[in-house]
Amino acid sequence: AAKQHGRARGCRFQAAMNERVARRVALESGLREALERGEFSLAYQPKQNIVSGLLTGFEALLRWHGPAGVHGAAETCAQPSAHPSEFVPVLEDTGLILPVGAWVIRSVCAQVRAWRDAGMPPVPVAVNLSARQFQQENLVDMILAATREAGIAPAALEFELTESMLMSDPAVSEGILLRLKAAGIGLSIDDFGTGYSSLSYLKRFPLDALKIDRAFVRDLPADSEDLAITRAVIALAHSLGLRVIAEGVEDAAQLASLRANGCDEIQGYLYGEPVSAAECLAIFGACPLAGSVA
Ligand code: C2E
Ligand code: MG
Ligand code: MG
Ligand code: MG
Repeated sequence: AAKQHGRARGCRFQAAMNERVARRVALESGLREALERGEFSLAYQPKQNIVSGLLTGFEALLRWHGPAGVHGAAETCAQPSAHPSEFVPVLEDTGLILPVGAWVIRSVCAQVRAWRDAGMPPVPVAVNLSARQFQQENLVDMILAATREAGIAPAALEFELTESMLMSDPAVSEGILLRLKAAGIGLSIDDFGTGYSSLSYLKRFPLDALKIDRAFVRDLPADSEDLAITRAVIALAHSLGLRVIAEGVEDAAQLASLRANGCDEIQGYLYGEPVSAAECLAIFGACPLAGSVA
């Protein structure tokens, strides 16, 4: 009986494996066509200064309205629709992140131009970069060309980078960051605390802000370890002259704890979920300014 049981379990395991492989293949082939088919869009999530209450900027987040069978299959079977946490790694593995990432940068520049023209507060928009893009020879030139073509100041952009990305070749990273910084572009470390924390790079790289990962924010203020980590990160950042942004802030108790501990900014469902550019304009178009970027 035990043997039979084992075989049944093996079958189920095999079936689950096959399903995962099939889904991966479907994702890959769907993503290969996605750019041409215009299936990507961007959602924008606001950030808020918790001392002044002012809007400080947005983060652009990639969305994929995939073909039926990948994204649209959610209603018909157990397959979830494709979230960035699932499809961004596929874009990275396949190298598709290079054209898609370039599309994101150009789209954000065009959006900033349109928002400026429509009277949106001139706050910067942050773009996530992936490791593959960071290894691209002409990354900085491509970014600066995109801002020129859209007629916006480079200072209207920020980039979010991860610790592991910067540490794979610190000398090359430093060169790229210095050029971006010299152009006036803001630089922050995303998901801080989850990567290889080599603190020496914080001093070495010309950064502006650290984003505390959602994992440390979720159980605030009850979890005493998360509270200790959050306090330590805020103290470290401030002593290095960096701003601190807490990610994934969902409720008033988390906000109160972050505020009491000197965090500068928040991003999360409490202040605003990621929404379309049109909704941003409707919600924030009349917002008071928060630091002009020209
Ligand atoms: P991230 O850069 O850390 O982005 C923050 C993620 O947290 C977003 O997930 C956002 O929707 C989510 N989030 C924001 N506030 C809350 C909250 O209060 N509660 C919870 N539970 N979640 C919240 P999203 O949009 O699914 O993106 C996931 C990740 O995919 C991003 O993490 C980023 O690493 C990557 N990504 C997204 N867009 C791009 C892109 O254009 N290029 C690259 N290379 N990566 C991207
Ligand atoms: Mg980010
Ligand atoms: Mg993050
Ligand atoms: Mg994250």
